[in-house]
Amino acid sequence: MNGPAALSPAATRALLERLGHHPRKKLGQNFLIDGNIVRKSVALAALRADETVVEIGPGLGTLTGALVAAGARVHAVEIDPRLAAHIGDMFGDRVELLQGDAVDRPLGTAAPARGEPFSVVANLPYAITSPWMEALLSGPLPRRMVLMVQKEAADRLTARPDGGSAGAVSIFLQSAYHGESRHAVSRACFYPAPAVDSTLLVLVRRAAPLRFPRQARDAVRRVFTQRRKQLQTLVKNDALLGPWWEGARETYDLSPTLRAEAVPLAAWQRLASPYET
Ligand code: SAM
Repeated sequence: MNGPAALSPAATRALLERLGHHPRKKLGQNFLIDGNIVRKSVALAALRADETVVEIGPGLGTLTGALVAAGARVHAVEIDPRLAAHIGDMFGDRVELLQGDAVDRPLGTAAPARGEPFSVVANLPYAITSPWMEALLSGPLPRRMVLMVQKEAADRLTARPDGGSAGAVSIFLQSAYHGESRHAVSRACFYPAPAVDSTLLVLVRRAAPLRFPRQARDAVRRVFTQRRKQLQTLVKNDALLGPWWEGARETYDLSPTLRAEAVPLAAWQRLASPYET
């Protein structure tokens, strides 16, 4: 059994040198070097026996090793060919690996049968947090996710939709998941150290999750690009949002001058439908 591969800056540097690899900033390659955080991520996943776990960006295989050791059936998606080859060498057929973009394949090779519980545990590359999340929410929903994200992304994803700092993805996520807990993680837990601190976010699927159809997602994203404009201006002549805004205003007694960033979650959810499991 391969345990965690690189849990100190020195071991990580040595491994990178052996692989002839320079961490690529564009791909968010900040590798975990703190054993406590790796253990905590696995513990927070509360895995069931033989559970399928999707890991985005296995990198040097630190978290992957801990998940395999915990008995998970890991499906990993890694975009970097050199790191993907390393994961293949390290785990062989103990990990189902897809070399590719997790935004295109948010679950990698995992294809959970209808209703089959599975989880996601990942130290997400910061650049794909929102697009990967949106892609994930349009497919089969994991029962639980343990995600390392930049603190600012965690704040945005879990912010109240009517509080001024949420985004469109916050609305989609909060309609399907509730945040169970969050844990601060110092930038010193990664090599190379990123410029900002991170947060370990635990998300649990709601009992009755809601899903936004494609057209509704596009529409919500569109109004959030002009979040400070009055909604009544933005939705004029919009076949989907026009009638939605009329109904939402009446039901929730909303001011006609409201902006997208001040609309409550329940009002947005009138654009969503129950997720069928
Ligand atoms: N899991 C490792 C760890 O915790 O040490 C590495 C995490 S590192 C923050 C992010 C990883 O995601 C890198 O290995 C990077 O190459 C990979 N990655 C970046 N963009 C990706 C994408 N679009 N699809 C799949 N993997 C990606």
